[in-house]
Formats: sequence, C-alpha cells, structure tokens
Amino acid sequence: LEKQLQELKEADVKWLHIDVMDGNFVPSISFGFPIVKTLRKAFSGVFDVHLMIQEPIRYIKEFAESGSDMIRWIRECGCKAGLAVNPHTPIEEVYPYLHLTDMVLAMTVQPGFGGQKYIHSVTKKVETLHKYLNENGFDSVLIEVDGGICLETALEAADAGSDILVSGSSVFKGNIGQNVHDLLEAMNHSEKV
Ligand code: ZN
Repeated sequence: LEKQLQELKEADVKWLHIDVMDGNFVPSISFGFPIVKTLRKAFSGVFDVHLMIQEPIRYIKEFAESGSDMIRWIRECGCKAGLAVNPHTPIEEVYPYLHLTDMVLAMTVQPGFGGQKYIHSVTKKVETLHKYLNENGFDSVLIEVDGGICLETALEAADAGSDILVSGSSVFKGNIGQNVHDLLEAMNHSEKV
C-alpha cells in the first residue's frame, strides 16, 4: 500500500476515493477508520470517502476525525457532503436534497465489488442531472461517476457532464503512473473538461 501511495504521489494524483463497505449495506467489507487514519498520514490530497454502510450518520464524526475531506450524507464537521445514487435509483430522487449537497455520485456499477463493467444506461442519468443542475442554479454541485471507469468509459462519462471520475482497477492494475497519465490524456479529449 505504501508503495502504491508513493506512485500516486509521483503521478501527481490529487484525490483519493476510499470505498468504505460494512458487509451489510453491501456484501463486501473494506476499510475502517484505522486505515483511513494511516492513509491520511501518507497522502496530503483530498480524501473522498464513499460510505457504503448501514446508518452512515452514526459514523460521520469518526470519519471526519480520521481525516476525510468529502463525506457523503451531511455537511457536518467541516466536511463536504455528497449523495450517492445506485445504478437503478432514479436520478430525480436526489433533486430535493441538492441544496444540501456539494456533490452527487452516480454509481455506474452495483456498489460493493471492484472490477465490474460500467453500466452504460447511467450515462443518460448523468446527462439528465447535468442539465437539471445547470437549469436550476445548482452549478456548484459536482457530479462524480464511480464504477467501471477505464480509458473507453472515461470519455463517455466526461462528455455526459461528470466533473470527477473515480477509477480503481484501471489505475492500480499495472503501472500507476502510466495509467494515470493515459486516463488524463483520454479526458483531455472531452468537450467538457
Ligand atoms: Zn466508491
């Protein structure tokens, strides 16, 4: 893990997206506070912590104290808040909460496992949301897309209006520096960025 963090730093990566899974809300189990704290010491960029857990409210404070910059659900403790939408949840369900939100995360795979294929129907939802945000004075709300992002899908998601793309497998498999470079290169072809 230490070596990978070093490679991320060398590739000038500024955001680290951390999937927290509890084995309950989603079947897998991943990091908890101790790991977030350890990572915090080694990485000075933005921590984008994605809580895939039952009753996230209960843990907001602990995650904030362990050094998370972006916490989904509520803007307490000086963190920014995002709302995550699973692939089969209609995007309209976030509209009533946009005034409380800094970011909407559109899941482009079923949450819980890495290495899944991007669900293309979500691209339409991102377009719809992007249009809604612009037309209703929510220009400052960011759109983040999470799941199945690789060279081919990064451009599709960016063109639809997403501001932040989360990439796991296609960054960490093989040479991290080269992968980050290639992804950013692909993004540069988007009309939007
Ligand atoms: Zn995530």
